[in-house]
Amino acid sequence: MARERVVVVGGGLTAARAVESMREHGFDDEIAVVTEERRLPYERPPLSKGYLAGSDPSSVVYPLPARWYREHDVDVRRGVRATAIDPSARTVATDEGELAYDRLLLATGSSPRRFEGPGAGLRGVHVLRSLPDSTRLRTALREGDRRVVVLGSGWIGLEVAAAARDYGNAVTVLGRSEVPLVGAVGRELGGMFAELHREHGVEVRNEVAVSAIEGVGRRVRGVVLGTGEEVPADLVVVGIGATPNVGLAASAGLTVEDGIVTDASFRTSADGVFAAGDVANVFNPTLGHRLRVEHWANAEASGRAVGRVLAGEVLEFDEIPYFYTDQYDLGMEYSGYGELADGADLVVRGDLAARECVAFWLREGRVVAGMNVNVWDVNDQVQRLIRSGAVVDPVALADPDVPLDRIGAPA
Ligand SMILES: Cc1cc2nc3c(=O)[nH]c(=O)nc-3n(C[C@H](O)[C@H](O)[C@H](O)COP(=O)(O)OP(=O)(O)OC[C@H]3O[C@@H](n4cnc5c(N)ncnc54)[C@H](O)[C@@H]3O)c2cc1C
Repeated sequence: MARERVVVVGGGLTAARAVESMREHGFDDEIAVVTEERRLPYERPPLSKGYLAGSDPSSVVYPLPARWYREHDVDVRRGVRATAIDPSARTVATDEGELAYDRLLLATGSSPRRFEGPGAGLRGVHVLRSLPDSTRLRTALREGDRRVVVLGSGWIGLEVAAAARDYGNAVTVLGRSEVPLVGAVGRELGGMFAELHREHGVEVRNEVAVSAIEGVGRRVRGVVLGTGEEVPADLVVVGIGATPNVGLAASAGLTVEDGIVTDASFRTSADGVFAAGDVANVFNPTLGHRLRVEHWANAEASGRAVGRVLAGEVLEFDEIPYFYTDQYDLGMEYSGYGELADGADLVVRGDLAARECVAFWLREGRVVAGMNVNVWDVNDQVQRLIRSGAVVDPVALADPDVPLDRIGAPA
């Protein structure tokens, strides 16, 4: 029988987990991975945490070593960019020629949103997505004693601020919203992060608009606000979100709507073409509509799941979104549906001011999201509560003396 070939476009965690899972689930035919990056597929969280902070070597980013790809006969074509796909001919055009496929996985991830005003191209202006980006930023931050201005008070902006402070720089965070992370965790928890950073000496400024980045010659000098004020800067880090890399899919006529649209089994609108990870907008059976998730755990889980589908299994992907962050001595995990948590009732178990608590978001008495801050080994319980859909007693939920596994469980 003719051997089949699966081609994966992408060099992130989704691609790595997809090929690993294909081999684990019995796909023995050809696998080729096309990645424009010059290294093996890797994951990004350390780029704004341990690697940026200098505590982890670059090797921590690789979920699978080079040996694994050799031993499992996976052909990784590094430094090769896919330039077009033709779903009717089942081919991928790359800058090194054409590749035929039987099934194609698009795991092209996302790209950092660039600052669109004047000055974005000045020396000293950084974005953070790739390992080389992180290495460049680390080299600059490590000098210490510099004025670092971070545009954006989302996860990456705050993690960079923490690393920059740890290297002894003066750091200002400029955010557009009323508190950092308001869209992700709401006002109270976002306020907690602002306080954390202020205590570490970061100047956190909210509700500011940035109109330009100013330079002296080709080098950055400061950031100009909508009010005309200039915030002096030796280094600017732009952390204002990311956009999904849908170019290949859109040019080939696949349905694209905030990412590549797929069903719950990662099938796109083109026969034989699948999408997963950051780039995919996947139908979620629990919510009854599509969800695009830009988080590590989604790359991990959807990569594994799509690998099983590509190996011939039938499944529907129904993971609860999960993410985590580490900043200074604060670690937290969040599970749940952010869109349902927006405007929901907040119940806190533990001490929010001391930053040791579990926060729950309740809608009609049911837990739709939960976040543990410097409290560990509760995430499975948080996920269980969300999945159960049980109406819970908010007083018991807030009481650390009532074990979480007694809440929402059948009497
Ligand atoms: C600095 C940083 C820190 C993060 N920290 C966290 C965290 O703490 N917690 C968390 O939950 N999430 C975090 N994330 C988000 C998480 O890393 C992403 O959700 C994850 O990387 C998505 O994986 P992916 O494989 O889908 O996409 P990506 O990691 O974006 O990988 C896509 C790959 O495809 C390649 N590619 C794209 N187009 C082509 C093409 N045409 N041809 C060939 N190759 C192509 C890209 O170069 C890239 O290698 C962080 C992200 C960043 C950038």
